[in-house]
Amino acid sequence: MEVHVLTCPFCTAPISQRTNLCEYCGHEYMISSFSSLSKLGRANINKYTNAYSNALKDEPNDASLNTSVGICYIGLGMYEKALICFEKVIEKDPENSFGYFAAAISMLNGKSAFLNEKKKVDKAIGYVNAALIISEIGIYHFLMAYLKYDYYKRKYLKIDPDHRYHLNLAYSYGILNGDVNDLFTMLNVKIPDEF
Ligand SMILES: [Zn+2]
Repeated sequence: MEVHVLTCPFCTAPISQRTNLCEYCGHEYMISSFSSLSKLGRANINKYTNAYSNALKDEPNDASLNTSVGICYIGLGMYEKALICFEKVIEKDPENSFGYFAAAISMLNGKSAFLNEKKKVDKAIGYVNAALIISEIGIYHFLMAYLKYDYYKRKYLKIDPDHRYHLNLAYSYGILNGDVNDLFTMLNVKIPDEF
């Protein structure tokens, strides 16, 4: 994939090579994870969002650009806009598990699963299921455990498999504290004490 239309979000230097680091200022062009976003700091997220939004005018369906701007929108608390980006990522790059994971996070709109409508929580669960089919990793099971715990368990509703099943799998596949913190920062909710 080539992104001719993007300039460095940090220093606006043109992108000359197929690298993710700006030759002039050394910053990342494409934000592709929540951890790179948290390293950026909130003040710079707007710069990146503007650069990606400009590039998207020329390439509105580009999966990488939509991923990067979607991550920035989540970081800015603009969950509805983020969801539109990740729905596009899923459509254009359906084998990319991160698109489903991020769509599930966006679906909750910065509120706990408990406070969301069942329809939205179930849709988020559907997205995480899709992510897990493509790539079974700990952090996806951790998000699934949260959705099933905070909505189903706390409302005394049954769901099979339950949150414990996913929590056990998350710990057996392995999860990093940093990833868990980034996940709950992006969700804008606290990690349940039970976890
Ligand atoms: Zn630069």
